[in-house]
Amino acid sequence: MLTNRHIVILGGDARQIEVIDKLIALDARLSLVGFDQLDRNFNGAMKVTMDEVQPRTVDSLILPVSGTDEEGTVETTFSNQQVKLTEEWLAETPDHCTIYSGISTPYLDHIAQKNGREVVKLFARDDVAIYNSIPTVEGTIMMVIQHTDITIHHANVIVLGLGRTGMSVARAFHALGAHVKVGDRNPRQIARAIEMGVDAFYLKNLGDEVDDAEICINTIPAMVLTSRVLSKMPASSFIIDLASLPGGTDFRFAKKRGIKAIITPGLPGLVAPKTAGKIIANVMQELLEEKFKEEEEDES
Ligand code: NAP
Repeated sequence: MLTNRHIVILGGDARQIEVIDKLIALDARLSLVGFDQLDRNFNGAMKVTMDEVQPRTVDSLILPVSGTDEEGTVETTFSNQQVKLTEEWLAETPDHCTIYSGISTPYLDHIAQKNGREVVKLFARDDVAIYNSIPTVEGTIMMVIQHTDITIHHANVIVLGLGRTGMSVARAFHALGAHVKVGDRNPRQIARAIEMGVDAFYLKNLGDEVDDAEICINTIPAMVLTSRVLSKMPASSFIIDLASLPGGTDFRFAKKRGIKAIITPGLPGLVAPKTAGKIIANVMQELLEEKFKEEEEDES
């Protein structure tokens, strides 16, 4: 239980509703900043503004999946007001105050480090990334169906990166009957792709592998679909870039070549906010209970 623990949820989208419900059930004291337009009230949680929160009372701070931008502003689906996490505000929180965020950003890392606060990156955890890959795959299939006029079955599909998301994507498209070819830089992942029954190639040879690509799904957060590679890809190809912003595609050149290329951040929150929220809520429960138990043991 999280009785008497003051947790502030700073902005976010529909996924945070699952987190709020979970933390209320665990008896936390919750302050919700950036939820003034949410058409729902919670028994056991207060909708407040940033100015109304006393930072020195805060035990934990939960940010949206995207963290903050470079000015400290957080995404707020349920508010038109700007919500900002400033260094001055953070400095007033107690030393034990931990920040939880989907990913970190240079701004967040900087202010946390300067003030000796820990940032827990939920999406760096393998379990969260793998669970999250499930709605990501469903969203990817939805996007591919919407943006192409061919079936996935028998389509030539290239998946770039066989990490936690790429693995699930490759497996799902293979199961749907696509001809899947995986590009990765790591021999271990090449071997894994072969074991899964899909074709594989080293990323350095990407330019030689794209001439028959009908669908290309990128999960590598680095520039891989360069102008050199795109120049060898059919103009009728469809690229869906799942990697975190700015993605791994030269979108300017893709447009010039007439290749339809889209970047689709936050698919889990878009296609399955409830499931995606439960994934975050479950891990938040685990982390917060563990942390407060440790603190109680240290105090006794
Ligand atoms: P991951 O497990 O770390 O996989 C990333 C893959 O990219 C690995 O195969 C990795 O290879 C490769 N890679 C990374 N940097 C590279 C580089 N410079 N050159 C070549 N290969 C490189 O990450 P993940 O959890 O699968 O997530 C992948 C991306 O998708 C992330 O950007 C994540 O934020 C994003 N994502 C987006 C959505 C969405 O809704 N759009 C949903 C989930 C995740 P190595 O193993 O060799 O490093």
